[in-house]
Amino acid sequence: MHKYGILDFLRDYPGMTIGPSRENHIILQGIFKFKAKVKGLPEIEDSYSLSILVPNRFPFHIPIVEEVGGKIPRDHNYHINPDNTLCLGSPLQLLKKLNKNPTINVFAEECLVPYLYAVSFKLQNGGSFIFGELAHGQKGIIDDYTQLLGLGTWEQVVYALRLLGVNKRLANKQPCPCKCGKRLGACNFRKVLNQYRQIAPSSYYKEQLQNFKR
Ligand SMILES: [Zn+2]
Ligand SMILES: [Zn+2]
Repeated sequence: MHKYGILDFLRDYPGMTIGPSRENHIILQGIFKFKAKVKGLPEIEDSYSLSILVPNRFPFHIPIVEEVGGKIPRDHNYHINPDNTLCLGSPLQLLKKLNKNPTINVFAEECLVPYLYAVSFKLQNGGSFIFGELAHGQKGIIDDYTQLLGLGTWEQVVYALRLLGVNKRLANKQPCPCKCGKRLGACNFRKVLNQYRQIAPSSYYKEQLQNFKR
C-alpha cells in the first residue's frame, strides 16, 4: 500500500478510500474534493464521486478514472467517454507529467484536478472546455503525439515510435522520421527521441504502437 504514494493520496483526499482491488491494480474510490485556481480565472472548490483504477504498472500504464456520480454530462464536449471514463489526455502526455515524480498525488494534481476544474468551470459558466489541448479519442491522441514529437503526420509518428521501440544504436542508423533525408543519428531530431528514451524504456513505445495503430 506504500506504492506510488497511495497513503499520501488518502491523507490529502480524505473522501477517498481503497476499494476492492485486484492483483494487477488498486481501486481508489469515493468523493474527490479539490480546490484549484487557473491563471486569470476564479478559484473553484468542487467535488466529484470517482473511481480511480491504478494499474500496477503505473505510471507506464495510466490510471483509469470513472465519474460514478453522474454529475458530468456524458458528452464529448466534457471529455467524458460513453463508458464513463474521463478523457484526461494521451498516455505519453500523462507520462511526461508524471515521469519526474510518479505518484498518485502528482497524477491527481497535474492530470486530474485541471480536468475537473475545466468541467466545473464549464458546468458553472458554459462556454467551451478551457483546456482545449486535452486530447479526445483516437484523433486527439494522433494530434497530441504529432505535437509532442514535433512531426507533421501520423505516419511519421508511427515511424518515430518504431524507432523508439528499438535500441538507440540501431535507431540512429535508420532514416530520420523528420524527413530531412539523413540518418536519425546525423539529425538533431535524435535529441527529441533521446528525451523520450529517458522517460520510458523501448518496450513502452512498442506497446504504444500496438495500442495506437490505425
Ligand atoms: Zn476528450
Ligand atoms: Zn531529421
